[in-house]
Amino acid sequence: MAPLIRVSDLSKSFGAVQAVESINLEIEAGELFCLLGASGCGKTTLLRMLAGFETPTSGKIEIDGIDMAGVDPADRPVNIMFQNYALFPHMSVANNIGYGLKRAGLRGSAVQARVDKLLSLVKLDGFGARKPHQLSGGQKQRVALARALARQPKLLLLDEPLAALDKKLREDTQFELMNIQDELGTSFMVVTHDQEEAMVLANRIGVMQAGKLVQVDAPRTLYERPENKFVADFLGTISFIDAIVETQSDQLQCTTNDGILTVVTDQIFPVGQPVSLAVRPEKIKLSRTVPNDANQLEVVIEDYAYLGVATHYRVRTKAGTRLNILQSNPPQGETPLSWDETGYISFAAEHIIPLTD
Ligand code: ATP
Repeated sequence: MAPLIRVSDLSKSFGAVQAVESINLEIEAGELFCLLGASGCGKTTLLRMLAGFETPTSGKIEIDGIDMAGVDPADRPVNIMFQNYALFPHMSVANNIGYGLKRAGLRGSAVQARVDKLLSLVKLDGFGARKPHQLSGGQKQRVALARALARQPKLLLLDEPLAALDKKLREDTQFELMNIQDELGTSFMVVTHDQEEAMVLANRIGVMQAGKLVQVDAPRTLYERPENKFVADFLGTISFIDAIVETQSDQLQCTTNDGILTVVTDQIFPVGQPVSLAVRPEKIKLSRTVPNDANQLEVVIEDYAYLGVATHYRVRTKAGTRLNILQSNPPQGETPLSWDETGYISFAAEHIIPLTD
């Protein structure tokens, strides 16, 4: 079956600024896809091209197998929910939600029935008569969502949909958004620069860097098997150890300034290749005594912060490499490692990710 969305070699430049460069992407029906990237990397431009508000400089967008070149935004099976919600302040919640339906020619009880259904979907039964200023931030966000879904788009584009909400409300709303998407089966493409939000929401995440889509994968794959340093660093905390590939048989032997480290990988590296060995903080064990592991380094504790569920350590190896560690808190009565103490870190060979760029 053809994907719902197929984007081929899509580029957009504004004068000298290359906002989007050679993007290829397929989205399936029913997917919740997140576009993740730093400010200015081209996320909104890609979204606006999908919605038809921006004309590509080159490349093609197909929705349901139909080329969207020259198709008006109103005639695309796509809707977009903007960051600031843009609710009509003088209209009631029900009229805000029903606005697009009326413009599409629906009248009377048909509009009413659809509005009621949407109010119920976003858990705002009974709120139809209120005006936007009588709603909380989270409620406004849900009205905007209901309005964007009113005409049953096949693809809903959401540009930073939760940015205006505080942390707690944002977390609750993330789960609500997932439930609604699951219930409707509409494909969602959510733009965010918040990697945690992308991890919570998405079936797949596309990471953008300077106009390019650098990796598209399931959240777990992106986190555990990033393909380059940018992706590794963008998704959560990670530490890098510079190394040179020494030998490769079953395992990769790498020389670092602190000694040899062993890596398990499917990738083939030439001997002599410089690599960055990436390790996630929760994959590093920290102990006071020399561990019984092959991959181990002596370190000094530079800093630590008690986070409640765990302690975040920053340590320095003898050769001066700095690493972040997330360590479960020791049982009551055991003293945790503290500033300037010497400790040992160790990690499994399969938890080291060798990266070349
Ligand atoms: P943010 O997260 O800050 O919204 P973004 O990833 O959505 O950023 P875009 O808004 O797509 O990024 O912008 C990508 C690049 O294109 C930026 O350098 C921006 O300045 C530029 N750009 C976007 N729209 C225009 C325009 N209409 N004219 C000129 N340059 C533009």
